[in-house]
Amino acid sequence: MDIRPSHHRVVAGDEPRKMLELRGRPVSPGLTRGRAYIIGGDRMAVPHYRVAATVTAEERRRLESALQSGAEDLARLQERVQAELGRPEAEIFDAHRALLSDEQFRERICAHIDQQQVNAEWAVETTVKDIADSLESADNEYLRERAADVRDLGHRVLRHLSDDERRPHAYLPADSILVARELFPLDLMEIDRAHLAGIVTERGGATGHAAILARALAIPAITGVADATSVISPGAELLVDGGSGVVTVDPPTDEAERFSSKVQRYDQGQAAAEADEGLVAETLDGATVGLYANIARGTEAQDAVDHRLDGVGLFRTEYLFLNEPDAPSFEKHRAAYEDAARRLDGRPLVIRTLDLGGDKFPRFLDSHREENPMLGLRGLRFSLTEGRTLFETQIQAILAVAASHREVRILLPMVLGAADFGAARSIIEKLARDEHLRERPKIGAMIETPAAVLTIHDILDVADFASIGTNDLTQFILAADRNAFDVIEHHTVLHPAVLRAIKLVAEAGEKAGKAISVCGEAAANPAVAGLLIGLGIRQLSMSPAASAWVRQRIRTLDSREAETLAERALKCTDAELVRMAIWN
Ligand code: PEP
Ligand code: MG
Repeated sequence: MDIRPSHHRVVAGDEPRKMLELRGRPVSPGLTRGRAYIIGGDRMAVPHYRVAATVTAEERRRLESALQSGAEDLARLQERVQAELGRPEAEIFDAHRALLSDEQFRERICAHIDQQQVNAEWAVETTVKDIADSLESADNEYLRERAADVRDLGHRVLRHLSDDERRPHAYLPADSILVARELFPLDLMEIDRAHLAGIVTERGGATGHAAILARALAIPAITGVADATSVISPGAELLVDGGSGVVTVDPPTDEAERFSSKVQRYDQGQAAAEADEGLVAETLDGATVGLYANIARGTEAQDAVDHRLDGVGLFRTEYLFLNEPDAPSFEKHRAAYEDAARRLDGRPLVIRTLDLGGDKFPRFLDSHREENPMLGLRGLRFSLTEGRTLFETQIQAILAVAASHREVRILLPMVLGAADFGAARSIIEKLARDEHLRERPKIGAMIETPAAVLTIHDILDVADFASIGTNDLTQFILAADRNAFDVIEHHTVLHPAVLRAIKLVAEAGEKAGKAISVCGEAAANPAVAGLLIGLGIRQLSMSPAASAWVRQRIRTLDSREAETLAERALKCTDAELVRMAIWN
C-alpha cells in the first residue's frame, strides 16, 4: 500500500493567490506557523550568519574540505561518463574541475569570509553569484553559457558544506519551519531551537529518534510529505498542523485567520491539561500509575519536576555525546548525572548506559560504520565488546553520583538474556566494590528485543527491574524499521504480537515481584497508555511535554474496563482491529 499523498491539492482561497495543501503523517502534535527553511534538496536555504574573527580559520577549513569533496565527486562522475559515453563527453567536466581547484576562486571566497566575517556557505553563495552575474553580462556567448556551470558548481560546494555534520544549522531565522528530506538526531540536538517553530520532512518514521526529539521539544512535526523540499519555496509561509498532518503553503488571509483560532483552541486545551498536573495519576477505581520523564540532558530533569512527575524513568545518555569529537570523559558523564540528580532532589533517576549504534552514531566513533547498524554492534552488545572502556568510564561516573544520591539506578539497553545482563552486572559490581560503595545502585534491563521477551523470567532472576522499550521491540517483532517512512503504518505497538509480548513481560514482573515500566513512545500516547494499564503496566515514562495529556487520560479511566479492553485487543488478529477497539 502506498500511503504517500499522490497529489498535492491546490486550493483556491478568497484571494487570487493559490494556496497549496500538502499531506503527510503527523509525528509530533501541535499547531505552528512560520517560514520555510529548507535544508538539503535542490532548493535549500543558504545559511547566513556572522562568525567571530577568531573562527574564520575554521570556516576556511570547512570550505577547503567542501571544495575537495566537490572535486572528488566530479572526478568520479567524469570517470563514469568516460566509461559509459566516451572521452569527448567526459571532457565537459574538465572546466568544472579546473574551477574547483582554481587558486583565485578559492582566494576570492576566503577573502569574503575574512573581510565580511561570514560563514563559508554565504561566502560561496555571494562569490558564485558575482562571478555568474558578470559572465551573464558578457558579449561573448560562450562566456554567457559558462554562468550556468558556475552556479552548478556553487550548488555542489554548498551541498558538501551542508553535509558537514559539525554545523547542523546552528543559526535559524525566527519562526523557521525546517523542511528537509530527512532529519537525524544530531540535526535536532545541535539546531537553533529557539527559532525552530516546526518540522516538515519527506522521510522518517514516527518512533525514529528525530521524531522522538521533536516531541520532547514540543515542536510540531510532519513526516512523509512527498517532494516537500522541491515543492515548497524557501521563505514560503507555512501553517503546520501536527495533529492532522496537513501543511498549508502560502495561505490567504482568511485561511491564516482560521488557523489562528485553531491554535488558540489547542493552546487552551493544553493549558487546561497542564492545570491538572498537581493531581495524582490515579484511575477512577483507585489504581495509581507512576509517571516518569524521558530525558536526554541533565538539565531536562527540571522538566520532570516542573510537570510534577515521579522522577526520570529513562535518561538517554548517548545524546549528550553525539556531536563530541572525543569519547566522553568520566568528568563529562559525572557532571550531567550530578546535575540531573540534584534537580530531582531524591526522586528516582534511571540512567541508561550508552545505547550507541542504530541511528545514534556519535562523531567520536566515525570509523565504526556498519552495513546494517540496527542489527549490528549496538547497545549492550557494543558495551561488552568494542565499547568496554567507554562503558566502564560511564559506570564509574554513575557510581560516583550514586554515592551521594541513593535513588540513582542503572538501565542496560538492548539486553538479550540473563547472560549478557549478568556479564554487565558483574562489571558494575566489581567497579562498585573498587569504589567501596556500601550499596550498588539497582540495575534494570531494557526489554526491547524479542530475545529478552522470551527469556524474561531468566532476566528478572538477575535484574532488579525492567523497562519495555516499545520503539525497538515493535521494530524487531514486526520486522519494520522505526525510521523508515515506507513502513510507518506497519511499525505499530498496536499489533497484537507486540501487545502479547508486553503482557508476557508484565505478568513475569508481577510473578517475580519486580517493577516493569514502559519507556517507549507508546507510553506518551494517552489512548495507548490506557491499553498499557489494561495489560498490567503501572509505570509509564515519556517526554515531559506529553505527560499532562496522559495524566488526564488516566484520571478518566477505570482499570477494570481497561483490562477488559486489553483482553479484547490481545485476541484481535491485526493492528487495525485493535485501533478500532480502542478508539471507538
Ligand atoms: C525504545 O526502544 O523504545 C526505547 C525507549 O529506546 P530508544 O528509543 O532510545 O531506542
Ligand atoms: Mg531502544
